[in-house]
Amino acid sequence: MKNRSRLLQQGIPGTGNILYWMSREQRVASNPALFFASYMAKEYGKQLEVLFVIDDNYPNANLRSFAFMIEGLQEVKLLLESLNIPFHIRIGTIPNEVISHINLHQNSIIVTDFNPLRHDVSWKKELFHSVYIPVYEVDGRNIVPCWISSDKQEYSARTIRPKITRLLYDYLHPLPDVESLKQEQTLASESVDWEGILDSLNIDKSITPINKTAGGKAAQKVLNQFIEERIRNYAIERNNTKTNGCSELSPYLHFGQISALEVALKVIKECPDDDNRKAFLEQLIIRRELAENFCYYNPNYDSFEGFPSWAKKSLLDHQSDIREYLYSRAEFEQAQTHDSLWNEAQGTLVESGTMHNYLRMYWGKKILEWSATAKEAMQTAVYLNDKYQLDGRDPNGYTGCAWCIGGLHDRPWFNHSIFGNVRYMGSKKISSQNRK
Ligand SMILES: Cc1cc2nc3c(=O)[nH]c(=O)nc-3n(C[C@H](O)[C@H](O)[C@H](O)COP(=O)(O)OP(=O)(O)OC[C@H]3O[C@@H](n4cnc5c(N)ncnc54)[C@H](O)[C@@H]3O)c2cc1C
Repeated sequence: MKNRSRLLQQGIPGTGNILYWMSREQRVASNPALFFASYMAKEYGKQLEVLFVIDDNYPNANLRSFAFMIEGLQEVKLLLESLNIPFHIRIGTIPNEVISHINLHQNSIIVTDFNPLRHDVSWKKELFHSVYIPVYEVDGRNIVPCWISSDKQEYSARTIRPKITRLLYDYLHPLPDVESLKQEQTLASESVDWEGILDSLNIDKSITPINKTAGGKAAQKVLNQFIEERIRNYAIERNNTKTNGCSELSPYLHFGQISALEVALKVIKECPDDDNRKAFLEQLIIRRELAENFCYYNPNYDSFEGFPSWAKKSLLDHQSDIREYLYSRAEFEQAQTHDSLWNEAQGTLVESGTMHNYLRMYWGKKILEWSATAKEAMQTAVYLNDKYQLDGRDPNGYTGCAWCIGGLHDRPWFNHSIFGNVRYMGSKKISSQNRK
């Protein structure tokens, strides 16, 4: 198995079990951090235990995202216990709960998930100030680990594609079967009152759960259906807002309930090597890993400051252009624009936690067109995306908003009012799809 781990902090191992602090990769199968922790447990002659902390201060925590996450975690717990790996759930603040668990259990080493987003980076820094045992991080999100595919922020898909492609041969291999994780000794793991947890959390409960089954098994079902019914038309249908041509895997990928590696391997094995397969792998691997690269190397990933220089200049040059329509964040949120297509997309987002990819582009571009400044537009788009999208709070979301509003990963286009050289998008194409 190719190494996806790196040592974040050296230290003196404690006397207790190896701890996998699971955070972003909420699954058992095809989880390289879990396999790495299991390998370390064998090396050190220790047992492995897993900890997950539910923190209601998590940025934009709400009932929709937490209900989906907690449903998935129930499946993780059952599977880990069948492998004699205890799964501890703690409710509280990260990293305090992780620190007190380590102090109590005297863990030997910690293995945890890679995440480029700032809250996770700062949690790890805090952790290093309080625990002095070795800490390893494993990238279970990207097929080629983010810090290996490139050592800088990439300009576009064109520049990162060859870097990832040349490493795929090394990394595109399945992980061992979960049975190889099985521990001899049965260790105690507490029972969990899942419904009680959800009730007790101090989160925004006005964003209601959606009717979508969570967890690795559900993700497999969605993947199988996509492969059987839709991938054969993916290249031509993925931009059609009226047909269901995409995989709908993004919530499962976002919560780490399925790994991109597993999805890619299955698609490669079961689908012919044609334009559809290529188009899907371009999104799943190149575009997704480009988004991770952006958030990893650009600390301003969710604001105007993170846009490319040419776009910032051009948007500022057009800041005083007259806007025919101007809306506040509240008007956008309540879908009170003059445009029925935009309002419909926003309404669906609020109710069902999702939006078609092509509509997301239109939605983001219009927020720029109808906001007082590009800076405000980015704030509005990120706020709505993170609050309502089930797959929000993700590098793909920050990158998608920055692509629409700030020309990220795009080239300068011909000049347009308000947009400057940032690519403009009208409603013609989508409207014609709606008429069909
Ligand atoms: C304004 C805006 C906001 C977005 N917000 C999010 C978000 O919060 N979370 C999110 O996961 N994606 C986001 N995207 C990217 C993309 O729209 C979604 O990933 C896609 O619509 C998810 O549907 P799917 O799983 O059926 O995609 P498919 O077309 O089946 O693609 C498979 C997977 O490839 C990845 N992918 C697809 N398109 C992109 C893309 N453009 N950039 C990066 N990765 C991609 C996703 O992981 C997706 O699940 C956003 C795009 C825009 C323009």
